[in-house]
Amino acid sequence: MDNIDVASALGYYARLAELHDQNPYKIKAYAAAAFNLRKVKQPLQSLTQAEVEAIPGVGKSVSKAIVLLATTGSFPELEELERDTPAGVLDMLHIKGLGPKKVHVIWKNMGLLSVEALLDACRENRLVAQSGFGYKTQAEIIKAIEFAEAGKGSLHYARAEPDGLRILSALQHINGSVASATGAFRRCMEVLQSLDFLSSASAPEITQVLEATGCTEIETSETYIAARASCGLPVHVLQAEEVSFQHQLLLSTGPEEHLAALGPVSEASVTDEEAYYHSLGLHFIPAEVRDHPQALQEAAKGDFSNLISFEHLQGVLHNHSTWSDGLNTLEEMALACRSKGYTYFAICDHSRSAAYAHGLEIERVRQQFKEVEALNEQLRPFKVFKGIESDILADGSLDYPDELLAEFDLVVASVHSNLKMELERATERIIRAVEHPATTILGHPTGRLLLLRSGYPIDHQKVIDACAANKVAIELNAHPYRLDIDWRWIYRAMEKGVMISINPDAHEKDGIADMRFGALAARKGMLKRAFCLNALSLSEFEVYLAEKRAFRRA
Ligand SMILES: [Zn+2]
Ligand SMILES: [Zn+2]
Repeated sequence: MDNIDVASALGYYARLAELHDQNPYKIKAYAAAAFNLRKVKQPLQSLTQAEVEAIPGVGKSVSKAIVLLATTGSFPELEELERDTPAGVLDMLHIKGLGPKKVHVIWKNMGLLSVEALLDACRENRLVAQSGFGYKTQAEIIKAIEFAEAGKGSLHYARAEPDGLRILSALQHINGSVASATGAFRRCMEVLQSLDFLSSASAPEITQVLEATGCTEIETSETYIAARASCGLPVHVLQAEEVSFQHQLLLSTGPEEHLAALGPVSEASVTDEEAYYHSLGLHFIPAEVRDHPQALQEAAKGDFSNLISFEHLQGVLHNHSTWSDGLNTLEEMALACRSKGYTYFAICDHSRSAAYAHGLEIERVRQQFKEVEALNEQLRPFKVFKGIESDILADGSLDYPDELLAEFDLVVASVHSNLKMELERATERIIRAVEHPATTILGHPTGRLLLLRSGYPIDHQKVIDACAANKVAIELNAHPYRLDIDWRWIYRAMEKGVMISINPDAHEKDGIADMRFGALAARKGMLKRAFCLNALSLSEFEVYLAEKRAFRRA
């Protein structure tokens, strides 16, 4: 190991020792040695044990470790601590802003063993209950985890979008030029590897824009300018002449499969993207739809004006409040929805088995019913529905007696525990919950967290069939990490007549805005407005709920 590596390893050992709550003097000695070694010019490998001991700030005990590190790359105490620390906890130590003391609390007091479990806990506001943590730390941890992900090459669309839109707007303001988003960013893919743009401006003009929008590592090559956005993703600004701009836009937007299906595209044939699709006898295919295998088939039949869009959403189903693990009160959540122009709202706090999230015991459900009734008196014609997010228990049953379940206006049934299941068991468990007469919506069907957790495997077609047979809608959970059900299954759901509900699963007022990302994903899945449950007007939604009740009695 070279000197810098040895110093880093000592620093790492000091943090591990702190994580394990070891003697503070020892921790200090190793941290100090790590600091002092960075000033040593001679290679440590060439020094004897006595010479290492003589380095200022390096004591006898640490010198042994240094010699071993320099010659073998490790030392026994380091190996022992690494062995005694779960891999996921070691990962946490690399998260910016999370020192060993905090990781100790997360691991020992909260029992969290992986970065994904930590992120879940942040999202459910469980960290703020621990001493030494506040909302600010919690928010910073989420940010740091996301940044680390971006460094590995991928980021959730929602996290990259602000940078993307800022750069796009600045490019579009370059005088005498045209600019567009392109690639996966233009297609609103749920996970992005880069932010791509097309511009007819000159390289110096583009460079200036990238500098002004906070990009770093700006490099100019022959046909594009590369940089890094502040969210961590690479930026590519492709250059195109104005005459060939539309052609370049079509090609760079992709994806490959779509372009292959279109057939050879000559430069002369594309003077305008929209006209080009028309020349093929197709309606214009919006960029976000181009990933869909059925896009061309649909474009031959009609235009895409009946696709869902964010503006169509009229109600906000599946929300949490301070009754369970939310940050805002029920009233604050309802008022926030009303002020955004929605006409109805459903509170769906966690059910009693979700103890970690303060799930509602039966008595508290009754109390919440009273608050909802009072709110409805106060907020009319805005309507608050009595809902619950009922845990789907291990055997597929719901979390309350049937009599109580029947009293809710709607029940979102979701899996939150025993996530490690085989395909067959997971599918059976979910179908059993779907078959329960009280179930209105199947919540986040796979439990996935994009870039973090793949979720349990389910037989999507069987689940869709069961939802169709039982008049159960499927949630498209709009949280940018979930976007679950995956948009790739929406077409199949529509084919079976299953409604999709775009739900924010908001745990605070700000979370309601995630509905927009759900709508984007739904468009990728070509969800038609008529198949979106919460695009129904209030009165239509009430009719739907009444029909579901009648259906379950029949
Ligand atoms: Zn849930
Ligand atoms: Zn929820």
